[in-house]
Amino acid sequence: MTKPGNVARTVMLDGLQELIDALLGRGYTVFGPTVVDGVIDYRPITSVTQLPQGWGDVQDNASYRLRRRDDDAVFAFACGAQSAKPVLFPADELLWRARLGGAEPEIERAVDDKPAPPYAFLGLRSCDLAAIGIHDRVLSSRQFGDTHYALRREDTLIVAVTCTDPAGTCFCVSMDTGPVPRSGFDLAVTELYADGPHRFVVEAGTPRGEELLDQVASTAASDEDLVAAERVGAEAAARMGRVLDGTNLKDLLYDNTESPVWDDVASRCLRCTNCTLVCPTCFCTSITDASDLTGTTAERHRVWDSCFSEEYSYIHGGAVRESGRSRYRQWMTHKLAAWHDQFGSSGCVGCGRCITWCPAAIDITAEVAELRRLAEQRQRPQEARP
Ligand code: SF4
Ligand code: SF4
Repeated sequence: MTKPGNVARTVMLDGLQELIDALLGRGYTVFGPTVVDGVIDYRPITSVTQLPQGWGDVQDNASYRLRRRDDDAVFAFACGAQSAKPVLFPADELLWRARLGGAEPEIERAVDDKPAPPYAFLGLRSCDLAAIGIHDRVLSSRQFGDTHYALRREDTLIVAVTCTDPAGTCFCVSMDTGPVPRSGFDLAVTELYADGPHRFVVEAGTPRGEELLDQVASTAASDEDLVAAERVGAEAAARMGRVLDGTNLKDLLYDNTESPVWDDVASRCLRCTNCTLVCPTCFCTSITDASDLTGTTAERHRVWDSCFSEEYSYIHGGAVRESGRSRYRQWMTHKLAAWHDQFGSSGCVGCGRCITWCPAAIDITAEVAELRRLAEQRQRPQEARP
C-alpha cells in the first residue's frame, strides 16, 4: 500500500528503461532479475529486454522450474534463486594481500579500495528487503562492523517490487515481511498486467528515489491504479504456498532440544549446506589463507561457511556439533529462536529458498509443525492428570 505522503506515479515499460538508463547515467551497476542457467537470478543489466518477460517459476520441495507465462509480465516470478546476499556479502571476499619484494613485505588491504561503482537493485522482493535489513543490523550496526559490507551497502539504491505470483514455498506473510514492500526502498514498483495496459505503479520511498522518478516519463497514479496495486498485493498475500505458525516459537524450540524431530530430520539431511548458502540472512564465514607457488604473494580471504559443516564448530580439541541432529537443531533454533535474543528479530524472512534448494526436500515449516505436534502430544497426558 502506498504510504501517505509518498509520491506515486504510473510508468510504462519504456519508463522502466528510462529508470535503468538514469541509474546507469549516475554510475550505478544495476542488478536486475534475468533468466540465467535455468533460473531467475540477479545479474548486471542495462536493458528491460534482459528482464524475465513472460517467465514465471514453479517452486516446491527440492524443485525449481521455469515456466512460460501467458502474459508479458516482467516481475511475475517468486523470489529468485539467490537474494542480494552474493552481491553485498560475496561468497569469497579478499581481505588483504601481502607481497615480498623490497626490504619489507607490502600489505594491501582490500577494504582501502572502496568498491565502485555503487550498486542498484531492480526488482528486489520484500522478503529480500527484510533480509538486507537484518544484515544491516547484524553486519554493520554493532560494535565491530563488517567494513566490506558497510562500504558496499551505504551507496546501494533499491527498487523493490510487490510480489504478484508467490511460489509454493513462500511464507513471507507468516514472517510479516511481505509480499508488499513497506520500507527500506528508494522506489517500490507494483506491476499491473492483468487488466488494462501493462504498467507499473511506482512509489518513492526516499528523496533520492523521488528525484530519480522525476527523470522518468510518468503520470500521477490514478485512484484506479492505486486500488489495483493494493489489490494485487492483497491477492498475492492470500496465495502463500506455506504457513509457519510462529505462536510461542522461541519457547517451543528452547523447550524441545531433545525432541525426536531432530533425529528424524538428521536421518534425511545430507549436510550439503545448500539451505544456508541460499538463505538471504545466513552470514557464517571462515577465513582461508593462500600463497602463490613462488612464495612471494599471500592472500587472506573470507569465504561463506555453514553451521552444517563439521569443521564450522571445530574448537580446540574437536567439533562440538558432530552429529547431523545437532547441526540441524542449531540452524533452526538459532534462526527462529536465539536470533531474537541476539539481534531482536527472527532470522527467517519466509523466502522459502531453503525448501526449494534442499535436495532432501526438508521443509522448515513442516519441521516446525511436527515439533509443535509432538510437543503438544506430550503435553496432553500431563494436563489430563488430576
Ligand atoms: S530460513 Fe529458509 S525461508 Fe527462512 S530466510 Fe532462510 S532460506 Fe528463507
Ligand atoms: S537441510 Fe537440506 S539443504 Fe540443508 S544441509 Fe540438510 S540436506 Fe542440505
